[in-house]
Amino acid sequence: MRDRLMQILAGGLPSGVVSTSREVTSVEESPSGATLRFADGSAEGPFDLVVGADGIKGAARKAVRAGPGGGSGGGNDDAIYSGIRIQYGVALAGQRPEGSERELHQWFGGDTYGLSATYQGIGDKKFEMVAAVYQDRDRKEENAVWDQVEAKGACLRRLDERGFPQEMRALAEASDRFYELGVYYRNPLEGWVSRGEGQVVLLGDAAHAMPPNLGQGANQAIQDAYCLAGRLADLNSGAAFEGSLIAALRYYERVRKPDTSLVLAKSAFVGAVETLGGAAGGGAVGEAFRDNFFFGMWKAGVAEQIFMDGAMPKV
Ligand SMILES: Cc1cc2nc3c(=O)[nH]c(=O)nc-3n(C[C@H](O)[C@H](O)[C@H](O)COP(=O)(O)OP(=O)(O)OC[C@H]3O[C@@H](n4cnc5c(N)ncnc54)[C@H](O)[C@@H]3O)c2cc1C
Repeated sequence: MRDRLMQILAGGLPSGVVSTSREVTSVEESPSGATLRFADGSAEGPFDLVVGADGIKGAARKAVRAGPGGGSGGGNDDAIYSGIRIQYGVALAGQRPEGSERELHQWFGGDTYGLSATYQGIGDKKFEMVAAVYQDRDRKEENAVWDQVEAKGACLRRLDERGFPQEMRALAEASDRFYELGVYYRNPLEGWVSRGEGQVVLLGDAAHAMPPNLGQGANQAIQDAYCLAGRLADLNSGAAFEGSLIAALRYYERVRKPDTSLVLAKSAFVGAVETLGGAAGGGAVGEAFRDNFFFGMWKAGVAEQIFMDGAMPKV
């Protein structure tokens, strides 16, 4: 899970280079470099390059969209609401059936797609997660329901009303962390490299946040980082780009954007089909289409191909 991944990544860095709990409010470019401004009033820079890996609502994207001289880049910078919501709980391992640690369990119940899985945490700790995914076209913010008790109660009601199996119910009941998320994504075709001085570049969700239905967001972010690091190493060693930082950044964007856009489109499509049924998703006709679609995909082995294709590095 995220804590273990962060521990591994941080462990590979020299001490003192990671600084946490400091909110970046803006990234300002100038001919001498990019400067980070923080909410505590401090500033750092100028830097040759700022890599904005600050997620779907981060500050770096604003700098990338700003025109030369810091003016507005135009367009709509709002993330796009997918119409899908997720009720999501996490518990210490122990609720799922023996021997299912390496399995993802999935069900459809009425208009809801449900899943459970086991994840490795730090040390010997293992966690189990349960998620109920459904459509609600009314736009609500991410984590609109902050109250854990309310989110858990709503999820349990949803599972009971739709006849989900005991595995999901027990896991939801045992979860001590509960969230309700609105799923948002970014238009991946917008630029990833700043149009001002070319000193800010985006990766991960900041560049191409996608619905989580193919489990690919973090996977693609890691591939972005690998690709960008490789191109910067080529630049620094003189192996490519003839000393031009902007050429290296544009190359990275050209390599990664087509694949991440395709994965995003597939994720949005799978998310929409998984949550068919109910008032927003075509009722019984939607459910029948969904069930036949996934049965056919499974029979033809297409589902596995799509999952594996997204996970194969394209860097
Ligand atoms: C329910 C759910 C399930 C998912 N399942 C999977 C899965 O199975 N597999 C998978 O690959 N992906 C999955 N994802 C997607 C994955 O979580 C994201 O794609 C991934 O976390 C993106 O990583 P990131 O580093 O780009 O952004 P983030 O993880 O969002 O990290 C951004 C970081 O920047 C920080 N930050 C933001 N703004 C600022 C600021 N102004 N100043 C300073 N710091 C800032 C944030 O605090 C955060 O630490 C899932 C997502 C959801 C919601």
